[in-house]
Order: sequence, then C-alpha cells, then structure tokens
Amino acid sequence: MAAKIIDGKALAAEIKEEVRREVAAMTAAGRPAPCLAVILVGEDPASKVYVNNKKKACEACGIRSREILLPADTTEEALLEEIRRLNADETVDGVLCQLPVPPQIDKMRVIETVSPEKDVDGFHPLTVGRMVADRPGFLPCTPAGIIELLKSAGVDPDGKNAAVVGRSNIVGKPVSTLLMRANATVTVCHTHTRDLKAETRRADIVIAAAGVPQMITSDMIKPGAAVIDVGIHRRPDGGLWGDVVFDEVSQIAGAITPVPGGVGPMTVAMLMKNTLRAAAQRRAAQVKGNN
Ligand code: NDP
Repeated sequence: MAAKIIDGKALAAEIKEEVRREVAAMTAAGRPAPCLAVILVGEDPASKVYVNNKKKACEACGIRSREILLPADTTEEALLEEIRRLNADETVDGVLCQLPVPPQIDKMRVIETVSPEKDVDGFHPLTVGRMVADRPGFLPCTPAGIIELLKSAGVDPDGKNAAVVGRSNIVGKPVSTLLMRANATVTVCHTHTRDLKAETRRADIVIAAAGVPQMITSDMIKPGAAVIDVGIHRRPDGGLWGDVVFDEVSQIAGAITPVPGGVGPMTVAMLMKNTLRAAAQRRAAQVKGNN
C-alpha cells in the first residue's frame, strides 16, 4: 500500500497562521511586532532563495524583517561587529546569519556571537546545551519541524526505533536529541557506520539527513516505517531531489515527506515561531524591568 504523504507545506501554513494571529494580538495590545534580522554574506544562489523565503514568511506572519546584505569579501571581524550591533539593537528580536559563510569566516565564531536571547536558529552552544539538558529554550528549526511532521502524521516516537542518517550540528545531532526526548530508541548513522542498510531496516522512523541525493532506497526501509527526507538537492532539470528515492520508498513506507513540500517549509515556519517567542520573552522581560 502506498505511504501517507506528510504535507509539510500545509502544516507550515497552519503554524504560520497561528503565529500571525499571535503577532496580531501583540500589536493590538500596543506592543511592537516581532523583528527578525537576517544577515547574508555573499551571493550564494541557494542562500539567496532561503533568505527570500524567510522574508516572505515574515511578511505573511506580520513579523518585521530586516535584511543585511554583506559582500562576499566581508572580514570575520566586520561580520561579528554587525552581529553585535544587532544584539544591542532593542528593536530587533531575532538574529541569524544565513549559512554557509565564505571561507575567511569561522562559522562557529558567528554562531557564538549571536546573543542567546536572540538565537532563533537555535545554534548557539548555550541553546544547544539547554536542549540537551531538557531546559526551556529555542529549539533548532529543522529538527523541531521534523518532530512536528511526525506528530501531524500520528507517529509517536515513544518506544520506537529511530535511525537518523547524518550527525551534523544543525540536523542529525539535534534531531537525535529530540527523538530521544520523545522516548525513541535512537541510532545515529554516519560515514563510519558499517552496515547502514541494517540500521535503517530496523527502524520504525528514518530521518534521512546525509545530504546525498537519492541514497535511501526501498530495500533500506522496513515496511510501514515513517520516512522524513531532509535532503535538498538541485536536479539537473532545475527541480529538487531529496536524500530519498521517493517513488520507490513511498510504496513501502507507512508515511513519507516529499521534497519539495516536506521539511523545507517547516524549517521556515519554526523560525517564525521562534521569532515570536523571542519577541514575547523580550517584551515580558522589558515589562518586568520597568516594574
Ligand atoms: P552535513 O553535510 O553537515 O552532514 C551530513 C551528515 O551525513 C554527516 O554527518 C555525514 O557523516 C553523513 N553522511 C554523509 N554521507 C553519508 C553516507 N553515505 N552514509 C551515512 N552517512 C552519511 O549536512 P547537513 O546536516 O547540513 O544537511 C543534510 C542535508 O539536509 C543537506 O542536503 C541539506 O541541504 C539539507 N538541509 C535541509 C534543510 C531543510 O530545511 N529542509 C535544513 C538543513 C539542511 P560524517 O559525519 O561521518 O561525515
């Protein structure tokens, strides 16, 4: 039987609508709308698309967005100075720098310079530490979106075997943590995994985040498993591919996300949610500070 297709676009639209309503309530109460600052260094075409998607989502939610475009030869110190300026700007609630950054800039220094209060991407080591320690804080957007996609498909990770293919700081590691928090038994796979197929075939939930086009085939999937495809790859014909061979895996899986229209829109929707949360927390702290 063909898998249930998990519609990330529709779920993202619902989440953005919720955010829009809360932003409207915030402004109706006389408080300023949230503001997200996005820095883009250089001309990477994929990054430009992502930044534009974030800007459009902000518009749809009533969130103010500020775009800071810096040339590809920007020095690390100049970028860090820009981030510090946005950290100190009282009118800005969320700050992010679109990755990747050019080679002269150390990505980790960029991530560590964003103020944890404005860390809506959820990449700062303090934010990551809070997540791992089960403390309240921002959750990274793509992993949080994956958990919402599973929930929307009625897939409860509790007691299930989950295989995460990939161990990056932005997808593999945090989604493993969130699945563990949801009581799954998690196996994290990477390039040193001896028998990837054996690991994925045991799994009730497979998160494909290796960044290798079309690597997950139907023989790697247990019948009925939920498959979340995080990969995004430009096809030679201009379309998009995921890490999963959708046509064949969707014949075996119980539920599957498409590419496009799966994880991608959810990443942006969760960013809107984090920006709203950052604004609400900062407004509450300001009120407390004034009393
Ligand atoms: P990285 O390249 O940082 O990490 C890839 C991970 O996959 C590494 O841990 C690597 O292992 C592992 N890996 C690579 N090849 C294999 C293989 N053949 N078998 C097993 N493991 C393998 O990628 P990201 O995590 O940043 O992104 C992954 C994909 O998700 C990309 O296609 C990216 O474009 C997409 N993405 C999509 C987002 C969305 O919103 N939809 C958001 C973020 C990313 P090792 O550590 O051993 O090298």
